Amino acid sequence: MKLKYERPVINKINAGMPDKYGMKVQTKAITEIDGLKISNLIEKFGSPAYVLSQQTIENTFTEVKRAFTNRYPKVQFAWSYKTNYLDAVCRVFHSLGSWAEVVSGFEYRKALNNGVEGKHIIFNGPDKSKGDLILAIEKGSLIHIDHFDELYMIMELTEVLSQRPKVAIRVNMDTGIYPQWDRFGFNYENGEAWNALNRIMLSGKMELVGLHTHIGTYILTPNAYAVAAAKLTDLAVNINRKYNHKIKYIDMGGGFATKNTLKGAYLSGADTCPSFDTYADAITSAIVNSEISPEDLPTLILETGRALIDDAGYLIGTVLANKRLADGRRSTIIDIGVNMLFTSFWYEHEIYPAKETSVHTEDTTIYGPLCMNIDVVRAAIQFPLLQKGDQVVIKRIGAYNMTQWMQFITLRPNIVLIDTKGETHIIRTAETNDTFLQHEKIPDYLIKN
Ligand SMILES: *Cc1c(COP(=O)(O)O)cnc(C)c1O
Repeated sequence: MKLKYERPVINKINAGMPDKYGMKVQTKAITEIDGLKISNLIEKFGSPAYVLSQQTIENTFTEVKRAFTNRYPKVQFAWSYKTNYLDAVCRVFHSLGSWAEVVSGFEYRKALNNGVEGKHIIFNGPDKSKGDLILAIEKGSLIHIDHFDELYMIMELTEVLSQRPKVAIRVNMDTGIYPQWDRFGFNYENGEAWNALNRIMLSGKMELVGLHTHIGTYILTPNAYAVAAAKLTDLAVNINRKYNHKIKYIDMGGGFATKNTLKGAYLSGADTCPSFDTYADAITSAIVNSEISPEDLPTLILETGRALIDDAGYLIGTVLANKRLADGRRSTIIDIGVNMLFTSFWYEHEIYPAKETSVHTEDTTIYGPLCMNIDVVRAAIQFPLLQKGDQVVIKRIGAYNMTQWMQFITLRPNIVLIDTKGETHIIRTAETNDTFLQHEKIPDYLIKN
């Protein structure tokens, strides 16, 4: 076969930013996912496509579960729907024993539809409509109150409903992480959290079942969780002292980091991401060392999202073209845009060729296919000289991309799940123009007869 012509260029030798291993040159390829060839996946499901590995989800879940159950007697995970609410993905987590953690009426109903019992749905978030609250109260779900307006709405509802709402409050606090997430829930330091708890207890109309916090996301400091857990246990101890009431659970939310590298980070995410054991140690130590007596230890709930699914997700796609920019720099255009890779706004995503390449690389900018300047997948990467039609894999994209995606310029592609036997299943079909026609309406006067 005739070799493809690559226009020769002269590069200034540039040391770049070495890391502790010296200059990193990326020539590694990812040729398959769970034993299935990328080229075959693209042939079958089109380019681009999202691919999810159920085996990776299960392995990660086993690892996090072991980290916590080794250290604490009562642990329960609740799948954070907004991280990835494809029904098939949620059902994988439910089949592994996860409850559902939802932050809207839409997500709440999705969880019911996925067969989750009402009492195993945790309802978070600042936007719960009256209708949502009535449904959640009637189903016996765990309602995590976000603000006083919600608290009073629930109190009003207790006048007309026969069920006693099961509630917790979301608490925000100073954990040493800045900027502090203080817009959700009741603040600990200014006394609002304690005030809310007193109002719940004094009303006698609700059952206070737990205490909740979600201190942020991609938290690299496990100690922040120790501080948060200590503050929640402090509230639990004070409630017991004042009302002789024991809460059933402490919910530490989500927020564990992943091995993705943040933009501007000096070290790669693989080097900085704390292990599940480190997080588990911080959280469980704070609870077991508190004044809560051993027979009253609350269940520890975790709403881990990102860290449970990021590694399981891949985007596979194809090179559309190469160009020289005005300054001679190489640019490669691929068919995966930021509209389907929302997390590229804060991560330096790892991107690999789908077949072995020569060792020669060049400093390259990788663009998506959108006709918009911000469509940059990687601003600067040492990348092999791929040609039109060559395939690429973007790794570790399972969290948030399949929910925060934008319908912009192109249609959303197929999403494929590889099950634990290596069988593929389309779990969301590629959109077509008809997908959008279903929702659009044309006023009569704009219809030509
Ligand atoms: C988003 C969210 C989570 C999941 O957070 P991750 O950072 O993805 O682990 C958990 N709980 C609540 C309340 C959330 O809003």
